[in-house]
Amino acid sequence: MLQDKDRIFTNLYGFHSPDLQAAKMRGAWDGTKFLLEKGRDWIIDEMKKSGLRGRGGAGFPTGLKWSFMPKQSDGRPHYLVVNADESEPGTCKDREIMRNDPHLLIEGCLIASFAMGANAAYIYIRGEYIAERHALQRAVDEAYEARLIGKDNIHGYPFDLYVHHGAGAYICGEETALLESLEGKKGMPRLKPPFPANMGLYGCPTTVNNVESIAVAGTILRRGASWFSGIGRPNNVGTKLFCVSGHVNKPCNVEEAMGITFRELIDTHCGGIRGGWDNLLAVIPGGSSVPCVPADQIIDAPMDFDTLRGLKSGLGTAAVIVMDKSTDIVRAIARISYFYKHESCGQCTPCREGTGWMWRVLTRMAEGRAQKREIDMLLEVSTQIEGHTICALGDAAAWPVQGLIRHFRHEIEKRIDDYAANPHSEPVMIAAE
Ligand code: SF4
Repeated sequence: MLQDKDRIFTNLYGFHSPDLQAAKMRGAWDGTKFLLEKGRDWIIDEMKKSGLRGRGGAGFPTGLKWSFMPKQSDGRPHYLVVNADESEPGTCKDREIMRNDPHLLIEGCLIASFAMGANAAYIYIRGEYIAERHALQRAVDEAYEARLIGKDNIHGYPFDLYVHHGAGAYICGEETALLESLEGKKGMPRLKPPFPANMGLYGCPTTVNNVESIAVAGTILRRGASWFSGIGRPNNVGTKLFCVSGHVNKPCNVEEAMGITFRELIDTHCGGIRGGWDNLLAVIPGGSSVPCVPADQIIDAPMDFDTLRGLKSGLGTAAVIVMDKSTDIVRAIARISYFYKHESCGQCTPCREGTGWMWRVLTRMAEGRAQKREIDMLLEVSTQIEGHTICALGDAAAWPVQGLIRHFRHEIEKRIDDYAANPHSEPVMIAAE
C-alpha cells in the first residue's frame, strides 16, 4: 500500500487551493531550473530509468517515447501535445489533476517539452470539461504571470502553452484524431506510419502524452528515478491513479502503488464490495474497452499492466468498474457496445458496420431473442474487427464482447433457453438509435 510520503498528487481531492502559491508549497516548481540545467539527455535517461509507463491506457514506456523525437530539428518545430480528452467510460482521474493540481501538469509540460526540443505545447481538453478548462487556464495564466513559462521565462527556455478544448467526441482521444481536431479538421484517426514523432501536429515532430504521465514527471525527476521504480512490481512500477466506480460502498479516485491487489484497493479505499465479497460478479479493470474479469480471477490479482494482460484483460486507464451480482452483465456489455457504435468515426468498414452489428445482436441476446449458434458467430465477427481497423476503437469495441463470451457464455445461453420457454416476455431496451 502506498504511504502518504510517496504520494505525488497531494491535492487530488481539492482540500487545498490549486493556485500557484499553494502548489509551490506542495512542491511544484521546486528546482525546475536546476532540472533543466541537467540537460535533455539526462531528463530522458531518468524517465527511462524510472520505468514510467504511459498512463493513458497503452502503457508504453514514457522515456522511450520521448527519445523517439528527433535530436536535432530539421527546421520544423517540435511539439508536445497533452491528451486531456479523458473520454473512456469509467475514467475520471485526469480531471482531478486539472482541477486541483494543475501546476504539476504545467511544470511537466515545460520539462517534457524541453527534453524533446519543443518550444510550444498544447493541452487538448475534452469539450465537456468546462470547469477543468477554466481551472487549467487560470493556472496557465498564473504561470505566465510569474514568468515560469512564456517567451522570456525565469527558466531560460522559451516555452508557450496553449489550452485547446475539443467538442466532446470520444474518438478525439485517439492521438492522431486528436491532432486532426487540433488542426481544425474532423477528428478522424490517421493511418500510421508516419508516426507523430516524425509527422504529427502541422506535419511536425510531435509527442502525444496523457495528462497523468506528464504531471508525474517533475516529481519523478526531483525525487529520483530509483524512488519511483522502487514502488510497485518489476516492469509495473510507480504510483497510479485508480478511479473506482460501480458497486462498491464508496466509489473514489485514489493514488495507489502499482500492483496493489484488487482486494486491498477495494477494502482500503472503497469500503468493500456492496453486499460483501461473495456478492462480486465481475470487474472491468481498465475502462470500458477492456474485457471483464470474473470475480474469482480478479479478487487477489495485482492491479498492474502485466498481471491484467495475463488475465486477458488490461490495466488501461485504471478505471475500475465493479459489478456485483445484481448486474445484468449481458445488458451491461450491450450498452458498452452501443457506446462504441455511437463513437465510431466511420472510416473503416469493420468498425463502422461491425460495431452496430455487435450491438444489435447483443441487444437481442440480452433479451434471449437469439440462437445459441449466434454466440460463436458474434465471437468470430469480433475477431474480424479486432486488429483490422485504422485505430484501436475497433479493438475497444471487440474486447468487451470477447470478455463476455469468454466468461459468461452460460449466462447468454440461459437467456436464450428462458426466452425459448417463455417467448412473450417483455423486450428490454438498450439505448435507442
Ligand atoms: Fe474510425 Fe473506427 Fe476506423 Fe477508428 S476503427 S478509424 S473509429 S472507423
